[in-house]
Amino acid sequence: MDNIQITGTAFLGVDFRPENVELTINNGIITDISPARDNSGRLILPSFFNAHTHIGDTVALDTPIDRPLKELVAPPNGLKHVILRETPNDKLISAMRHSMEFMIRGGTTGFADLREGGADGVSAISSARVPGITSVILGRDGGELMPESAGLGLSNAHRLDSEIEAAAAAKKAGKLVAVHAGEGGIKDIEPAFELEPDVIIHATNFRPEDIRRAADEDIAIVLCPRSNWLLGVTDSSKKPPVRELLDAGCRVYLGTDNVMFVSPDMEAECAFLMTVCKTTPEETLSMAVGGFSLAGMSSVIEEGKSANLCVMKDDGLLSLSRKPLSTALTRLGRGAVCQVISDGEVIYSVK
Ligand SMILES: [Zn+2]
Repeated sequence: MDNIQITGTAFLGVDFRPENVELTINNGIITDISPARDNSGRLILPSFFNAHTHIGDTVALDTPIDRPLKELVAPPNGLKHVILRETPNDKLISAMRHSMEFMIRGGTTGFADLREGGADGVSAISSARVPGITSVILGRDGGELMPESAGLGLSNAHRLDSEIEAAAAAKKAGKLVAVHAGEGGIKDIEPAFELEPDVIIHATNFRPEDIRRAADEDIAIVLCPRSNWLLGVTDSSKKPPVRELLDAGCRVYLGTDNVMFVSPDMEAECAFLMTVCKTTPEETLSMAVGGFSLAGMSSVIEEGKSANLCVMKDDGLLSLSRKPLSTALTRLGRGAVCQVISDGEVIYSVK
């Protein structure tokens, strides 16, 4: 593995302190961070982890949202599931690969996907794998027990024996349990908690007692704000209750949800969250990288850590900026990404 040096304004540590530095990477590890003499016009962020996707539905991009949420996405007969069943496997695999490459070009080097289609669905996403991007695959209908799967990804909890047994089997196998809850209402929240999940996705309608319980039980919460707005399950900055989740000490991650409706673009998700919910750039980036913990990884920029980096050209804006991280997330965005490094390997580079 090559020795790599990168100069730029890097956002260091868990508090993302901006410092003009030269990073040295040896054998995949950041071995030295020293003050830089010159300003290179680059911003160096930890790479993103998209904590919730359904990349299978890349096959139906920008499907009109012309019916209720349940009719669009609920299994087994929501429109999305009809489309997935009708899609040939080779088209599904190449579409999923497309989304992985799209994520890499935006500086995302990991994602957690709820994979439909049982064991075959998990096999398809495994076949689509692209080097350099870590996938946490959460299967269902038997897919959760495949060796490639990191665990169970349930659509919703309904207190069915089959769900309870699947969650127990996944836990027994030492795997994760993730479930959507509180997206369109409150009915599925309690059944979701009863599964003792590791991850709850959405929490859009969480009440104070749900927030407290998620914090006390250390359940990671994945928010998908653009999806919630597009699919009409919120019209308020209080739903999902981002500030309350953060203040309660919950682990909160960010994801982009169904690719058929929302692009897997983490910079856009960050900018949207900051605009609607007024999260600080540091809180927002923390949510956008935190999902690496689902893969037992991190993307903090510190000496001794693995090098997982998203490098942006500053386009002359840095010298004018009073808040470089805000400039990176809300003005530069994915179009400014010029280099992406995953575990010390350059996996994307613009000349
Ligand atoms: Zn989802």
